[in-house]
Amino acid sequence: MTEKPTSGWGTSSGQDDSDGPTYARQLLLRLREALAAPGDGKSRLDQIVRLIATNMVAEVCSVYLMRGSDVLELCATEGLKPEAVNNARLHVGEGLVGVIARDAGTINTSTAREHPEFRYLPETGEEVYSSFLGVPIQRLGKVIGVLVVQNERPMTYKPADEEALRLVAMVIAEIADAGTLLPPDPSDTDGDRGPFHAVGTNASDGVAIGRVHLHEPRLLLPNPIADDVVFERQRLRDAMDQLRVDIDELIESSSLPDTGEHRDVMETYRLFANDKGWLRRLEANVATGLKAEAAVDVARSDARAKIDRARDPYLRERLNDMDDLAQRLLRRLMAPSQTEEPVPTDAILVARAIGPGELMDYPRGTLHGIILEEGSPSSHATIVARALDIPLVVQAGRCAREANQGDIAIVNGDQGHIHFRPRRDVVAAYEEKLSLRAQEKQAFAALRGAPAKTVDGHHIKLLINAGLSADLPSLSESGAEGVGLLRTELHFMLNRQMPTREEQTRFYSHIISKADDKPVIFRTLDVGSDKVLPFLKQLSEDNPALGWRAIRLGLDRPGILKMQAQALLRAANGRPLRVMFPMVANYHEFKRGREIFLEEVERLNPDRHTPPSKLEIGAMLETPSLVYEGNRFYKMTDFLSIGGNDLLQFFYAADRMNERTAGRYGTASHPFLAMLRQIVARCEANDTDLSFCGEAAGKPVDALALAATGIRALSMRPAAIGPVKRAIRAADLSAITQVIEEAEESGTPARQALIDYCSKHDIPI
Ligand code: PEP
Ligand code: MG
Repeated sequence: MTEKPTSGWGTSSGQDDSDGPTYARQLLLRLREALAAPGDGKSRLDQIVRLIATNMVAEVCSVYLMRGSDVLELCATEGLKPEAVNNARLHVGEGLVGVIARDAGTINTSTAREHPEFRYLPETGEEVYSSFLGVPIQRLGKVIGVLVVQNERPMTYKPADEEALRLVAMVIAEIADAGTLLPPDPSDTDGDRGPFHAVGTNASDGVAIGRVHLHEPRLLLPNPIADDVVFERQRLRDAMDQLRVDIDELIESSSLPDTGEHRDVMETYRLFANDKGWLRRLEANVATGLKAEAAVDVARSDARAKIDRARDPYLRERLNDMDDLAQRLLRRLMAPSQTEEPVPTDAILVARAIGPGELMDYPRGTLHGIILEEGSPSSHATIVARALDIPLVVQAGRCAREANQGDIAIVNGDQGHIHFRPRRDVVAAYEEKLSLRAQEKQAFAALRGAPAKTVDGHHIKLLINAGLSADLPSLSESGAEGVGLLRTELHFMLNRQMPTREEQTRFYSHIISKADDKPVIFRTLDVGSDKVLPFLKQLSEDNPALGWRAIRLGLDRPGILKMQAQALLRAANGRPLRVMFPMVANYHEFKRGREIFLEEVERLNPDRHTPPSKLEIGAMLETPSLVYEGNRFYKMTDFLSIGGNDLLQFFYAADRMNERTAGRYGTASHPFLAMLRQIVARCEANDTDLSFCGEAAGKPVDALALAATGIRALSMRPAAIGPVKRAIRAADLSAITQVIEEAEESGTPARQALIDYCSKHDIPI
């Protein structure tokens, strides 16, 4: 039996496997020289394949890069037919190259043609090559290409060869995005990678077309190979020292409570930053010959790949911490010019995750849309995006890794679709959609001053839901008559620590002033359940939506409620004040909350603070129990506002946060409308003001159904005022009421009956 020859790399150097890093180091040194020469990405890639082929005594060395999410294209080769470059393509999973891309694994075989996955590409002329060694080119946990060497003779590539090839693959990943190395595809709008489309979860409505702005700009190093390893190691150590100081300062300065989740997170950061194993891994990367930032980026890529594979949420969380830490370290190591890209004026912000503060740091008006890999419809970033009326899609697959800075992008916040580098016809379809919307917007603007009166003369008061001062300009823009719900918790949620009484006073006063004499209903702190304050330890409850939240928490911890009462009373400073409590479940809770407020009015120092000219105290009606509360409750409340989101979930016992149940039962349904009619009757009998402030108020069909129950004030997101007003002005309420009654008798779902009626009578819904 003849011994199989080993690869040229191993034999020519005469070294054994234990010297792998030395080979790798030698190869890197040669690469460094090649990369130091001027040239574009493509010519550098050509140089790399030539150099590897020579050094590994391989007859073929080729680089395949991903075009789009599914196709690998031969981009540079030494040894295969030159005309195959940019013509030979494989799907992911097809042929040995496709399998490497699919599995992110290495293939090392001396009998490639016998491999079950072998696929012959005639245009390359590769049928003569028997031995094959291929490794994935990965960036931030994503395979962006495949690097291959081939030899004619059957031979075994040594572990040292694999090691060297992996290192080269790392260098290729660092020097460029696939996008900059592939020629344009004539069918793409953008020339770089192919179109990418994904469906995420819609979190803020609206549609936008713009240019990708990466929140964490991708690090592209013209030459990731170190000139001086000792110097790079020192840079890395200095940056780590600085990072530790940063974290210590952050912990010391952020007045975190002594215990709690937030502090735990920061302490974990501190542990990682002091973790010797992590530093050793980074230093090992530097020792192979990489610059400090490339060494960190490679470690980050590894962490990202693990995040994608990790099933355990705790582990994912920790890997995410690691990833954030690496990001901080990179920022320390890189010059600002390498990390700070100017924000285009039509930016579509793309990020893995983003905090509300970071979102607000972007100049107003520059962000036209946002796409996040993580996040949720109730996350803080979502709240801010909605307040700023920016379309947002969350849970959008691997979007941050698929997007290139400056790509054309589309966000469809209504349906959760996102597109990068879309085809021309897709762009045209969205442009059409946007132009229709612009026309509609103009039509709504023309309605701004017109009353929301039905054809048969019923006036429906339209109000907006708000939470941030950024919402207030919408009050006059939409022509709404006031703020029907101001969610005060948003101001708390966006703060790192509990806002002081003075900060709260300033914020409420600002809101009252900006509302310009239009009434504002402030809702006291509604936290617990899905609304989490970063500085308040959350209880672990089996059913948080039914748990210790809202007024329950306020009454058990009256200090917070009292402070809020003081701030609201001071902010009103002689102006009228309307306040309501969330999640009141019975008369006693309301009575106690009201007493707390009235006690604070008594305690106002008349020399320094003027009491409100008129104080009205109301409650949210969010629990079915209040429908049956005694008349003394209805008589005591100055007004009631139906929180339809919560009321619906408790009425139908269907979690509003659970995708499987959230859309199952609707407001325009016979049983729910019957309950609303009861509430209307009780309010009329007791002369209690009534409004509705759940999301349903902003949907024209539901708004008509609500008006038909007798509710005469609807509070909704500002963008819904126009469409709802248009529907109301076209509708005859007595006819709508009759449609619902008849549908109930015939067993037709109320919503369907209304939709059919509206389309028959040209009522725009
Ligand atoms: C509601 O429950 O309908 C409501 C308006 O309150 P939130 O959505 O803030 O719970
Ligand atoms: Mg609620």
